[in-house]
Amino acid sequence: MLPAWSPVHSTIDLDAPGKRFGKIVLPLPGLGETVEIPIAVFARGEGPTVLMTGAVHGDEYDGPITLLRIARSLELDHVNGRLIIVPVLNQLAMRAGQRVAPIDRLDLNRSFPGDPEGRPSEILAHWLATRLVPIVDAVVDAHTGGSFTNWVPLAMMHPLADADQHRRTMTLIEAMRPPLGVVIDESDKPGMFDTYVERRGKIFVCCEFGGGTMTRRSLDVAGVCLRNALRHFNMLPGELETPVWPEFDGPRILQAADLDWVVASRRDGIYEPVVELGQAVAKGQVLGYVHPIDDLEAEPAEARAPIDGVLIFRPASSRVEKGTRLGMIARDL
Ligand SMILES: [Zn+2]
Repeated sequence: MLPAWSPVHSTIDLDAPGKRFGKIVLPLPGLGETVEIPIAVFARGEGPTVLMTGAVHGDEYDGPITLLRIARSLELDHVNGRLIIVPVLNQLAMRAGQRVAPIDRLDLNRSFPGDPEGRPSEILAHWLATRLVPIVDAVVDAHTGGSFTNWVPLAMMHPLADADQHRRTMTLIEAMRPPLGVVIDESDKPGMFDTYVERRGKIFVCCEFGGGTMTRRSLDVAGVCLRNALRHFNMLPGELETPVWPEFDGPRILQAADLDWVVASRRDGIYEPVVELGQAVAKGQVLGYVHPIDDLEAEPAEARAPIDGVLIFRPASSRVEKGTRLGMIARDL
């Protein structure tokens, strides 16, 4: 059992009907300071409780912009159930423009179930785990690749042992109509927000909307996917929209991915891409070359596709180190 006590509090009632904007107040141990994290709640009538979060990592911007717009524009009369929006969850990391909060260097998305007496990221994770997760039916968590990775805009889920939970999660992804829907088997699941929510039988969809610099296209896709999620839960009127992403014939191409299909650089150097993001590749095809910067005679190291599929991410910077993730291949389910 997790301890129920938390030093964190919300300035608004999350349970009463109505529309309210407020703050999650996170104390910083030993500093006598607090961090205020904006939170919005829309509660009306019967229906599920849905949590939408942005900026679990502080260098990811498409989700926060989109969720701020939704929070400002959504009309309570359209909501059936309860919607909780936290557009910029990791305030400390975003103030620094970094993936993690400089104060503790902890990845919030590896800090669950957290600790009310721990460091700030652990305290926040514990509050989310004990105050929000128990009341929600579904979580839509909006990420991007941040400073390190550029993704094809996609929505993903873990493979789930419970067939009904798997189906309900996939149904949400299909309704969101991302350019790509991916079932991803991640090896470092412990401590993830995703895993904590999934293990309680609830829906969790993680979105990766692009990279650390928003583009008009990535932002438009984020808007479509998150509005479609609201429509799926009967919290926004109108027909489902389809995002514009002409690299694919149509949305809802379901793919599977596995960490074994990540290609890592075998040396330091400069990465020369051969294949564009979202392009179909054959097993063994060269994805790119890593050129050494200090050796004129050495051949560049080839990075090859481990399977047939589609390249779903690439590094954000062309300067790579040994071990930098150069790409990941997803294939048809
Ligand atoms: Zn992230």
